[in-house]
Amino acid sequence: MTKQGLLLVLSGPSGVGKGTVKSAIVKNKVFPFEYSVSMTTRAPRPGEVDGRDYYFVTVAEFKAAIAQGNLLEYNQYVGNYYGTPVGPVKAMLAAGHDVLLEIDVNGAKKVREKMPDGVFIFLTPPDLHTLHLRLENRGTETEEVIRGRIEQASKEILVMQDYDYTVVNDTVANAVDHIKAIVEAEHVSVSRVIDSYRKMVKEN
Ligand code: 5GP
Repeated sequence: MTKQGLLLVLSGPSGVGKGTVKSAIVKNKVFPFEYSVSMTTRAPRPGEVDGRDYYFVTVAEFKAAIAQGNLLEYNQYVGNYYGTPVGPVKAMLAAGHDVLLEIDVNGAKKVREKMPDGVFIFLTPPDLHTLHLRLENRGTETEEVIRGRIEQASKEILVMQDYDYTVVNDTVANAVDHIKAIVEAEHVSVSRVIDSYRKMVKEN
């Protein structure tokens, strides 16, 4: 029987740099994993590719996916829907691949309820000021949206207590190194490997 892969959930406040950290992990192939592509109703940003960055869908299509039970979790965030298609995640885990989800804190909470064995990593900004600057510098959002995101972020930081690990995103390279160390440690955690050793002992 193939060993189930690890479900890695990278979350944290909007603007903390989850997307950048995820992209760095993907681009540099920091550790082997499959990435779960989310579905969203927001418009693509310049350079984003349908099916790679997100599945960009209409509200009607998103609602149909909810009704058909095709989403592991979903959330409405600053006026748009975001969700994780469940089929690919379960199939990749069953095939023994680690799966990375980069989702907001509400989504992560729902995933924790359904898949408590996941590894939940909370990315934090060095401080809230840095977070504001990052959102402004990105220049893709209006002032009103930025204010909404900052307010949301202040609340989101307090949910850290529901996570297994916290990683400070002071630099992307540091954050990526810490996440790599977490994944490596989780792979050799006794609670995760004990069953396969028990089996080995029994067969001898
Ligand atoms: P953005 O619009 O900047 O790409 O993403 C906005 C927020 O939605 C980010 O916090 C991002 O992590 C989150 N997000 C992206 N995909 C999903 C998803 O599938 N589910 C949930 N709940 N949040 C998501």
